[in-house]
Amino acid sequence: MYDYDLLVVGSANADLVIGVERRPGAGETVLGSDLAVHPGGKGANQAAAAARLGARTALLARVGDDGHGRLLLDSQRAAGVDTVGVLVGGAPTGVALIQVDPSGDNSIVVSPGANGRLTPADVRAAGGLFHASRVVSAQLEIPLETVVEVVRSLAPGSRFVLNPSPPLPLPAEVLAACDPLIVNEHEAKVILGGAATGDSPEEWAELLLARGPRSVVVTLGGEGALVASADGVARVPSVKVRAVDTTGAGDAFTAALAWRLGAGEPLAQAAAYAARVGAVTVTREGAQVSFPTAAEVAAL
Ligand code: ATP
Repeated sequence: MYDYDLLVVGSANADLVIGVERRPGAGETVLGSDLAVHPGGKGANQAAAAARLGARTALLARVGDDGHGRLLLDSQRAAGVDTVGVLVGGAPTGVALIQVDPSGDNSIVVSPGANGRLTPADVRAAGGLFHASRVVSAQLEIPLETVVEVVRSLAPGSRFVLNPSPPLPLPAEVLAACDPLIVNEHEAKVILGGAATGDSPEEWAELLLARGPRSVVVTLGGEGALVASADGVARVPSVKVRAVDTTGAGDAFTAALAWRLGAGEPLAQAAAYAARVGAVTVTREGAQVSFPTAAEVAAL
């Protein structure tokens, strides 16, 4: 019996958002709206999304000993995440400085801060969490060497899910552990390097599968998703909704998929559920505040 349905190993950021009439050029100062501070980072987002659905969820991450770190810890606990694995100190909490103009276009500067100090040694020290978790998920907003250590720390029988964002070429050892590797179009193309020639997600999925993951999921925004494994390639239709803000849809999708896979559902069925979770998420503004409960997904 596992204590956790899902262990998320990843980033926790404070998103500092200012609305501007026009994003400034070099040497320019512009006035903006009041500052809005939101909990974010792909790791914290995935953990919050899973816990809101009802998954017993733990987060392994690092935040600074500062106000942003406390915001992250408080918001994770409010979502129902066990923060026993959240380490504090070593650098300021990661921050994303986000300027948004009236057309919705943005400019973002990320300071990884404490996320960059989540080390392989931190992963080894958290070995008990790995043995207590049915599924482990990660992203790439923490050092790649730390993700390699995550793969090496997986307990026998547990399942590993990776969303390689922001995308990097991945070592064979990491690719081989993924079940599934979850990518959007941009991530698929970066990981495949020059190998992807056409615009067919089926082709990307087949090429990615040949690199070693046991399964691959390609997310396609409003077009749904595609799953690929030794059983073949299948489309997962999207749910038609009125999208108002797609922020966090990928994180919610990944969290839901990891949870349902851990519950024993086949990949296509778990992805269809995750697509419903993604669809509810895009009907609401914001990231973590837009994640649905299981009852809200059922009501869709
Ligand atoms: P992110 O911007 O969070 O990084 P992503 O590019 O990784 O997102 P998307 O493909 O945008 O991920 O979204 C994940 C899933 O959410 C999709 O596969 C789909 O099932 C669902 N989804 C996203 N956008 C929409 C939409 N407009 N309508 C319905 N479902 C959507």
